[in-house]
Amino acid sequence: ANLENGTFKKLDVVVVGGGLAGSLEALFLAKRGHRVRLYEYREDIRNTPQARGRSINLALSIRGRTALREVGLEDHMINNHGIPMKGRNIHRIDGSTYIIPYDSRTKQCIYSVGRNYLNGLLLQESEKYENVERFFNHKLIASNLREGFLSFQKTDTKEIVEVNADLIIGADGAFSAVRKEIMKQPLFDYNQKYIEHGYLELCIPPDSNGGFQMPPNYLHIWPRGEFMMIALPTRTGSWTVTLFMPFTHFKSLDNEDKLLKFFEKYFPDSIPLIGKQKLIADYFAGSASPLIAIKCRPYNVEDKALIIGDAAHAVVPFYGQGMNAGFEDCTILNQLFQKPHDDLAKILKEFSDTRWEDTFAISDLAMYNYIEMRDLVTRPSYLLRKAIDDVIFWLVPKVWIPLYNSVTFSTIPYTQCIKNRQWQDKVLNRSLLFLGAVTSAAGAFYVYKKIVGLS
Ligand code: FAD
Repeated sequence: ANLENGTFKKLDVVVVGGGLAGSLEALFLAKRGHRVRLYEYREDIRNTPQARGRSINLALSIRGRTALREVGLEDHMINNHGIPMKGRNIHRIDGSTYIIPYDSRTKQCIYSVGRNYLNGLLLQESEKYENVERFFNHKLIASNLREGFLSFQKTDTKEIVEVNADLIIGADGAFSAVRKEIMKQPLFDYNQKYIEHGYLELCIPPDSNGGFQMPPNYLHIWPRGEFMMIALPTRTGSWTVTLFMPFTHFKSLDNEDKLLKFFEKYFPDSIPLIGKQKLIADYFAGSASPLIAIKCRPYNVEDKALIIGDAAHAVVPFYGQGMNAGFEDCTILNQLFQKPHDDLAKILKEFSDTRWEDTFAISDLAMYNYIEMRDLVTRPSYLLRKAIDDVIFWLVPKVWIPLYNSVTFSTIPYTQCIKNRQWQDKVLNRSLLFLGAVTSAAGAFYVYKKIVGLS
């Protein structure tokens, strides 16, 4: 048992991966008084200000904020760093734009935050705790989870470092080495899916005065049916632009001429914003990256190991929930740790048993939202449904929370968000049927009166 006088004994925890989820989880564990050693493959992000190739800016919403609040960092991220985005700013092909607010009722926003900044801040905060040690340039290369044993290789000296822990937290991302070890366990379910679309990052620089070239308080979207481009504001006045499209499209744009023609056809208003030369340089400097979704379970190995964040549930990025869901893992785990009269094996099992359905749900929602962002947002039927949702939400906010709002601005479990939407669909369909029936009956009655009146 892990209980001493009703409270947890101090555990010796190793967190593998000092990315977003790992560095936050280290803080939660440190606050609970455990000894935490954080091992990260790459160098200390605080010494390498340049982006590491993956989305420079991310959308932070309420689930992530809730976790940051618990470790005292929410205010700083929202008030001193994040840029509020209060809706989608849709760019038509002719360059005209329109706005779809996220929440016209209470004006809630999502926040564009720098990945490196947030990661650095979480690591910096951990310096405040004497019970946290950080080891960079350490790659996990072997482990025996049941024994609590881990073997790291230093990336600079190639030296092998062997460590033991009471508890191992695998927060080592979508290609997790800890998860690979868990996969050897019987009854471990695993499913991975690469979608046929990839992404490539471009950049809209600031204007000559260092200001934004587009209205900054929106997530800008160029929806083009089969593909799309989005832009998130950064604190320097620039924009992180991400082009999502099928790999076949990326492949076909293999020279400057084809690239420019493609942009002139589909994203003409973005060319002067990015700049022709910069567009060419940035496009050909990189190659499109793949997008993977991973569903697996269970997340724990008895009382010895647990995976969280992308290691447990990588999702495609279209709901802006990957990091938020990883942060929510930390909140939920912390709540479970607070439960009295329980032991570690039970806590880890409860986390795994209760969390997987919600992470599977956000994975499905994220797949759906790609279609909404690149295609549906341009359709009148979508705009009508959004208007109806917004009116009913305004009238009965406790009963009718539109799907996007419940995912982004509430901590309602993701599975429940889907159930609510299914119920709303049913209500609207029945109301439409009822309206249709009433209109037909009224029409029939009117015709009948006419005929009777004539005879
Ligand atoms: P990671 O951030 O991948 O961190 C894992 C860490 O583990 C890394 O630092 C890595 O170096 C380390 N590591 C890996 N292997 C080892 C090893 N063997 N030994 C030691 N260390 C190791 N989410 C949102 O909420 N909002 C968004 O707007 C959003 N936009 C996105 C846009 C794109 C294009 C992409 C690709 C993702 C986006 N996400 C977004 C998702 C988000 O990036 C991830 O969910 C988040 O980074 C997961 O954090 P993590 O700590 O679990 O994993």
